Amino acid sequence: MPEEYKEPAPYRKGEPNPFESMMIRFDKACELYKLDEGLYNYLKLPIKQVIVSIPVRMDSGKLEVFEGYRVIHDNILGPSKGGIRYAPDVDLDEVKALASWMTWKCAIANIPFGGAKGAVKCDPRKLSQRELEMITRRYTVNLIEIFGPDSDIPAPDMNTDEQIMAWIMDTYSMHKNETVTGVVTGKPIIIGGSRGRREATGRGVMIATMAALKTQSIDPTTTTAVIQGFGNVGSVSAELLSEKGVKILAVSDVTGGYFNANGIDVKKAVEYISKNRTLEGAGLGDSITNEQLLELECDILVPAAKEDQITGENADKIKAKLIVEGANGPISADADEIIYNKGIRVIPDILANSGGVIVSYFEWVQDRIGYFWDEDDVNHRLNRMMTEAFNNVYNTAMEYNTSFRLGAYIYAIDKVSKVLKLRGIYG
Ligand code: NAD
Repeated sequence: MPEEYKEPAPYRKGEPNPFESMMIRFDKACELYKLDEGLYNYLKLPIKQVIVSIPVRMDSGKLEVFEGYRVIHDNILGPSKGGIRYAPDVDLDEVKALASWMTWKCAIANIPFGGAKGAVKCDPRKLSQRELEMITRRYTVNLIEIFGPDSDIPAPDMNTDEQIMAWIMDTYSMHKNETVTGVVTGKPIIIGGSRGRREATGRGVMIATMAALKTQSIDPTTTTAVIQGFGNVGSVSAELLSEKGVKILAVSDVTGGYFNANGIDVKKAVEYISKNRTLEGAGLGDSITNEQLLELECDILVPAAKEDQITGENADKIKAKLIVEGANGPISADADEIIYNKGIRVIPDILANSGGVIVSYFEWVQDRIGYFWDEDDVNHRLNRMMTEAFNNVYNTAMEYNTSFRLGAYIYAIDKVSKVLKLRGIYG
């Protein structure tokens, strides 16, 4: 085992791992929806789970073997779609949870994709560019029969970027003897990426927030927001919410956060991070911890960093009126009920951060037709699809008299199970 590997981080004692956390919500939604037992058994498990070994000759000359995963939760609505994550503590359960979330996310977004997710257990901070490229290319070759523009389409996720997508596209194309741009999304624009993809998730967070405020006739210019995480999702959400007149009271990243009662200068924060990579030393206001940030008095809280930030331990201290989940799984299953009973509305991850996969779908479409849209066109289409998805979830939550989260799961389960019934069971 490579020296830099840490043992997988243990999940908090007595609390569910990500897959169990997803299943708790799925089970509740199936119960409310009264899903047929056979269909429940079909949909609760992934259809394929692959573990691959990735031998790589390191720069030091040493041979190391990394473990990679690809989980296809389903391909009922179309080819499976989902990002690839590089992390030292990732495990199969985490990938299974993320793959299922992709199924529900694509169904809610009304895009013709099933759900998948992939990962390689490695620490990219400790790898050279060459080692990263070798891992990526060997991972792709090991999954060459799974990936494909009509079967399974990866995308970036934590610690993977457009360069890694370019390597996957190139490796796949070399093996197929033709250029297959549609095999991955999140590529550089110059090789078939989509305009607006980089900002898409944060833009979707902004659109979902505006739609939620509209249901209560709240003027965004009278509201305040707090944003945890200042990476791709957090920084774009902050910029676009602030453009809508929302006062951003606090922002943070892994190094800590800032509170400013007069409003954070978001432009300055974005400029600072582009030069310094973290917010440390940015001097945007009073220094606060991430724990304090989550508990601030505000209208809108956007957790856009990582999973399990609001748990049974701090849920009672949250004062926001609306939480928009930019990250995947930032609220643990045990916190759901506490948050709901406090009257805090939650726009769940599978709706709130679906802007990324929606524009990935646009990228795939553009690659297939070989004609590329301008950014206004992409943003306009994203706005229409996100608003429609929000309204569908809102109406389902109302119909079942339940939370937005369970409304979102029910909408997705209804759609996927109906298509499954129409397609029938082969065999
Ligand atoms: P990123 O790596 O660009 O940014 C992550 C940010 O979170 C960074 O600012 C980092 O410093 C901060 N962070 C990390 N650990 C933290 C901690 N313990 N406390 C506070 N801040 C912390 O990642 P991203 O692409 O912005 O993704 C963020 C979340 O959104 C993830 O859960 C990801 O799965 C989800 N997501 C991303 C996309 C996308 O298109 N990028 C789409 C859907 C969902």
